[in-house]
Amino acid sequence: MLESVKKKVWQEVEKAWPRQLAHLQALVREPSILGSEAGVQRLMQATFREMGLEVHTFEPDIGAICALPGFSPPEWSYRGRPNVVGVWKASRKDGRSLVLNGHVDVVSPEPISHWTYDPWGAIVVGDRLYGRGALDMKAGVNAMVWAVRAIQEADVLVRGDVVLQPVIEEECTGNGTLACLHRGFTGDGCLIPEPFYCQALVAQVGVLWGRIKVRGVSYHVMAARSGVNAIEKVYVLINAMRKLEARLNSEKPPAFRDVAWPINFNPGVIRGGDWPSTVPAECELEFRMGFYPGMTPERAKTLVRDHLLEAAATDPWLKEHPPEITFYGFHAEGMALDFNESPVIQTLNVSHQGVTGRPLEPVASTATTDARFFHLYYGIPVTCYGPSGGRAHGANEYVELPSVLEVTKVIATFIMDWCGVAQ
Ligand SMILES: [Zn+2]
Repeated sequence: MLESVKKKVWQEVEKAWPRQLAHLQALVREPSILGSEAGVQRLMQATFREMGLEVHTFEPDIGAICALPGFSPPEWSYRGRPNVVGVWKASRKDGRSLVLNGHVDVVSPEPISHWTYDPWGAIVVGDRLYGRGALDMKAGVNAMVWAVRAIQEADVLVRGDVVLQPVIEEECTGNGTLACLHRGFTGDGCLIPEPFYCQALVAQVGVLWGRIKVRGVSYHVMAARSGVNAIEKVYVLINAMRKLEARLNSEKPPAFRDVAWPINFNPGVIRGGDWPSTVPAECELEFRMGFYPGMTPERAKTLVRDHLLEAAATDPWLKEHPPEITFYGFHAEGMALDFNESPVIQTLNVSHQGVTGRPLEPVASTATTDARFFHLYYGIPVTCYGPSGGRAHGANEYVELPSVLEVTKVIATFIMDWCGVAQ
């Protein structure tokens, strides 16, 4: 591609930066936690209409996707929670098409009292923009939009369709992306601007969500030893999961060789008891467990269930009253990519170096992303590449604004390098 075309597009990115920043702030100000994504999706629809894209809006249909590989069973409905797809149609289609996918759902900012800045305020302090989802991943969604806008404003035409997919449900199932792919919104390649600090994703763990219910015996605390404390029995199972976690981390496959602790078990939600002077008779734990690529979610479930029941068998009470173990939400398979063989990563490497002057580094993730659907079930080359910041899922999450500007230029360059430019 002509150097002058690239320079023109980069100039357009810089020129539009104040408008891009205002758009990012508007995205972060939409509190798009699970069940409340409609507002941010209306904003994305309006953005796509302004850009002259073909706009599609639809709610994921559980009946249509529940038998597909990669589906994760939700315990909630998709009513009023749409995906939005914007297609920038190429007039000449002799190049490659591209999907730019990014999730607009964010996790809860609670406890809000731990924040210095309003989690929905999108306050800018120096080079940082603070807010829930600022980093994960509204800045990435914003960057992919403004990368396309810069190409449009430079009057450059690309030779393949560019399909923008702001999706719901990345943080709990991935069914938003699965529904997009099932509807036929695919492409010859895909880039997801998740916040990987300007590195290219080459591997990610599998993720499972589960729930453990333990029954005890309620009693007045004055005779606590006659009761069975369900909260304490759940601790037996948490300790067992820590042992499984340690064992898996001692058996790292090559893709995670350079990662200190790839597999994380997280007791995320606990409910038990209702009175300080009563021995609690019920306790429920919701957890997240990682596992390696190459293992199906079904195998991972068996591994976790067998391990928990084995631990329960060593406890006199739990042996007679085994825990109830169920799984819901994430049934996400892990994946590993080949940095040198992936056409998306190889093209991105060129685009990234052209903008930053630095070589593109690979990264193996200890979390999951929607990239798995493209690679594992649709055979579409994919990677994640996005901005830098800190404290994703924590208090005072922030994105570094200079990295957003840089990533926008890299994505714009990548779109042109991947799809080709009509001279
Ligand atoms: Zn994310």
